Amino acid sequence: MEVVLPVTWPVRWLRICRGCSIKTKLNLLTTAAAATALLLSSVAFYINGVRTIRTSKVQQLSTLATVVGSNTTAALEFDDPETAGELLASLAQHPSVEFACLFDTQGKPFATYPASPPADFVLPDPPPLGKARFTESGKLDIRKEIVHGGQTVGYIYVQSGMHNLKRQMAAHLRISVVVLIVTLGISVLLAGRLWQIFLAPIFRLIGLMQRVTSEDDYSVRVEDVRGDEMGVLQSGFNTMLDRIERARTDLQQAHDVLEDRVAQRTAELEVAKEAAEAANQAKSEFLANVSHEIRTPMTAILGFADLLSQQDESEGIDREQCVETIRRNGNHLLSIINDILDLSKIEAGKITVERVPCAVWREINQIAASMQPQAAAKGLAMGVDAVGLVPDSICTDVTRLRQILINLIGNAVKFTSTGSVRVVVRMLDSADASVPHLGFEVIDTGMGIPAEHLDTIFEPFSQADASLTRRFGGTGLGLAISRRFAQMLGGDITCESTVRGGSRFLLSVETGSLKGIQMVDRARSTGRHQSVEPATPKTEMSAPAADTPTAPIRLSSRVLLAEDGPDNQRLIAFLLLKAGAEVTVAENGRIAVDATLQASDAGKPFDVILMDMQMPVLDGYGAVAELRRHGLTTPIIALTAHAMQGDRQKCLDAGCDDYCAKPVDRQTLLEIVARHAVGEIA
Ligand code: ADP
Repeated sequence: MEVVLPVTWPVRWLRICRGCSIKTKLNLLTTAAAATALLLSSVAFYINGVRTIRTSKVQQLSTLATVVGSNTTAALEFDDPETAGELLASLAQHPSVEFACLFDTQGKPFATYPASPPADFVLPDPPPLGKARFTESGKLDIRKEIVHGGQTVGYIYVQSGMHNLKRQMAAHLRISVVVLIVTLGISVLLAGRLWQIFLAPIFRLIGLMQRVTSEDDYSVRVEDVRGDEMGVLQSGFNTMLDRIERARTDLQQAHDVLEDRVAQRTAELEVAKEAAEAANQAKSEFLANVSHEIRTPMTAILGFADLLSQQDESEGIDREQCVETIRRNGNHLLSIINDILDLSKIEAGKITVERVPCAVWREINQIAASMQPQAAAKGLAMGVDAVGLVPDSICTDVTRLRQILINLIGNAVKFTSTGSVRVVVRMLDSADASVPHLGFEVIDTGMGIPAEHLDTIFEPFSQADASLTRRFGGTGLGLAISRRFAQMLGGDITCESTVRGGSRFLLSVETGSLKGIQMVDRARSTGRHQSVEPATPKTEMSAPAADTPTAPIRLSSRVLLAEDGPDNQRLIAFLLLKAGAEVTVAENGRIAVDATLQASDAGKPFDVILMDMQMPVLDGYGAVAELRRHGLTTPIIALTAHAMQGDRQKCLDAGCDDYCAKPVDRQTLLEIVARHAVGEIA
């Protein structure tokens, strides 16, 4: 049950004062306390004063009665009322005395003052003997015994008015009130001043606190700390600010550290993300390249095999050349597949190396000899040299060593168009003499590698320049595999290169113990150099004169075939020619664009263009864009080994009208060409 307390005036007063300042409250409180105390003391003073006045009045009256009574002894004894009356008349000197009466021992009035009282005067009942009495009518009277010689000779009764007494009491009251007001005023003033002195430090504290909260400045402190309880409050305030400031500093530091960590972590994650994206990108590029590299030879293999299997179709072509093309492309395919398998085995940790004696000089010469025809085909000089004494044989994994050297020399030949490719063999200065290393330097005068790619070319799936790789082929796996193999053979591969200044790859391998091994001075070069005629430029092909076989699709259109691979050029051109088309071959996008524009200008535009999308100099995308920019509307069919998801759309978006993936299916190819060019489907 809720108890409802009565709302008394102090409660009401407190409610009103709730919104006032402390100073006002304290002033009010001290004023109220002082006023109460002063009021009480004034009342006490007044009461005491009144009592004193009354007592002295009683005493005065009693003394007067005694003196007058004793003066009248003789008159009473001699029964002389006249003298007694005269003696009583002396009371006139006391204006407050209004009436007096002498009684004889029997209680009969003997004499009175005034001598003849008013007619209506009624003698009051006298008070008890010796006692003064304040009557209801506001008078003071007293009755006293008159004694002489131990005998009661009579009684005297004196009655006094109270006018004088009331005046005195009123004056006393005025003094009390004045004293009350003056002391109250002084105490209020003093209290106000005292509170001011007492509250000043509190107001300073409040000011500091407001500064802390509004300006967020925790460096402020109370300066003049006092020695009293207020000082305890001030030093407590200072200590609290110290702690808050320290906590804030710690918090800020922790916050900064945390922010640094977050930034660092974010940067790490960013790097990791970029690395993951780069790896992903590299893998996508790798997949696209592998797909392209596999599909390109597959086109030649399947196409020529198809031709050879159809007696009628193969008429007019060199069958031996077809078989050779199939074999060459098959070997190329095999090497790509081997690379991929090697890398997967390395990744899975499945590759082991065996160390057997290897006649290293003979090996390197055999490898150089096997690569020599390729070098010769490009007009490059190739040589093998030895510097100083080299061991006759070393203990290593011959297969892996051969694989590495083939890759390095193969790359040197691939990326060099003029000049030479040299292999230099020499013993390396090894930090640990008990573990000798043999070095193979493959030095070419080729295109070189930009400095920023010198590290990345050793990473799987990475190529120095994807566009160049398109020109030269390759999957970007060779160097990654070679370096891993070199490391397994106790060595490494490093590269120094300058763009257009050639490259120098250094392969080092552990030789195993050379105890009992003969060291030979082979300071001589194989010095073989062979130059060949440059590759034949684009050719205009004409349909074989022999009777055209009955093909399901007959074409009578002029077709431009833009294709860089010689095998695919031959195959596709042959298929088109057989179908009755007139075929012009361009080995890159630039030639294709020029040939197309020339033909249009000459009034003999091509009916359809078959465009390989990945070609050196200018790729298919660039060529299509340029042709479309010239306003050419000739149907362009993308012919590409890029057959991953999205590649078709990419070609169509680039401006092609259709898309034919490699390896090319003869029927499909002819159908697509017929769909876009002048021709008919049988
Ligand atoms: P691939 O040759 O199959 O692309 P590699 O791993 O053998 O793969 O080579 C990686 C890349 O290194 C090449 O694509 C090429 O950009 C660069 N490279 C390797 N050897 C040479 C060289 N001798 N001269 C110029 N660039 C080279």
